Amino acid sequence: MTYTQPNLPYEMDALEPAISARTVDFHYNKHEKAYIDNLNRLIQGSGFEDMELEEVIKHANGALFNNASQAWNHIFYFFTFSPDGRREPSGRLADAIRETFGSFEDFKKAFVDAGVSLFGSGWVWLSRDNEGRLFITQGPNAANPITDGLTPLLTFDVWEHAYYLDYQNRRADALSKLWDIVDWEVVEERF
Ligand code: MN
Repeated sequence: MTYTQPNLPYEMDALEPAISARTVDFHYNKHEKAYIDNLNRLIQGSGFEDMELEEVIKHANGALFNNASQAWNHIFYFFTFSPDGRREPSGRLADAIRETFGSFEDFKKAFVDAGVSLFGSGWVWLSRDNEGRLFITQGPNAANPITDGLTPLLTFDVWEHAYYLDYQNRRADALSKLWDIVDWEVVEERF
């Protein structure tokens, strides 16, 4: 199959000031697009042609894994945000966050800390296991918790391309501002 890049569910400038229109433009139209284009090229003749993207991520290696996972991660990342979503978790997810991390504030701090302490490029994740337990994990480059049997709920991209135009080397500031645009209704649907 040919994997298509979904349209963003908001305008380029909709996430300002947390993420500038210029960064969304480069990140979505150049970086995300390149991963999907590479995926479509590399999957030819790989034996994985008819698989759902999640299955490719679970089974592929090397460049195919890297581009498949980066395609998935970026689509997931951009769909987590909205200019007018709900800014706090509610219901079962709010309860699970409190039970696991102490409070929503403690969770946000632990999540940003995990992103800041990741050396080099990668992603920080909130995921659940099959029993509904929550985990914060960090992974380098194209890592994705799907390969560990976890279900991703939320991710922040900590590659420099995600924030350098707006924040230069200030990764902690860049990640902290993302709480202003996370749509917890979307995150809860994944829980
Ligand atoms: Mn990225």
